[in-house]
Amino acid sequence: TKNMRVDKFLSQQTVLSRKEIKKLAKKKRIAVNQEVIKKTDIKIDPMVDTVTLDGIDISYEPYIYYVLNKPQGVVSATWDNQWPTVIDLLPPEDVVIYEPAPVGRLDKDTTGLLIVTNDGQLNHQIVSPNRHVEKEYRATISGRLPERAIERFAEGIVIDGNEKCLPAQLMIEEEDASEMATKVRVILLEGKYHQVKRMFQALNCEVMTLERIRIGAMTLPSDLALGDYKKYSYDELNEAI
Ligand code: URA
Repeated sequence: TKNMRVDKFLSQQTVLSRKEIKKLAKKKRIAVNQEVIKKTDIKIDPMVDTVTLDGIDISYEPYIYYVLNKPQGVVSATWDNQWPTVIDLLPPEDVVIYEPAPVGRLDKDTTGLLIVTNDGQLNHQIVSPNRHVEKEYRATISGRLPERAIERFAEGIVIDGNEKCLPAQLMIEEEDASEMATKVRVILLEGKYHQVKRMFQALNCEVMTLERIRIGAMTLPSDLALGDYKKYSYDELNEAI
């Protein structure tokens, strides 16, 4: 929507004052969508319109990409009536302008890598069941895994008695000496609702902790604390996915 005055936009994007901007406009040095403007009170859509000063594009980057280390107790949604959302962890001024949304979902109690963006095409690429983008998880399972757990994951687990999962990789990282817990890694090519938890349920195992550590070639940065985010460029994201 055309809801921002062009002089406000220009003063935000540059070091120029509104007075200086007015002078530049009189000298025909400012254009909106290739058309020279003489008045600076006209309204633009900062996400859509192209603003140039002396022919140099100073428009917003249309897309924003965050890589977030989601903490527990936060929901992967843009709004919730009860719990804080992943959007609440981002800079509010960016949220207002770019309206980013989480790519796929992590459960409220799941931690780890979540991409948040307003790039609908990239979002679709990652969550699309046809693209088979790998998602890797680290999990702690109560007790020991049953016989043939790895083979059953590789064959495709049937969850809730009727939903067949694609072949998935299960790797044992560490078995607790007391046999109380097992640390595993899981690589999925899809993202069904509560998928990891339901796959282990099908083996009569309970997932105690779950963390996503990778999507495609994008790994959770090791220096990213829970609740923190990093901004990425379009190129960095598209190379990884
Ligand atoms: N599988 C789950 O069960 N939960 C998640 O949050 C992600 C994958």
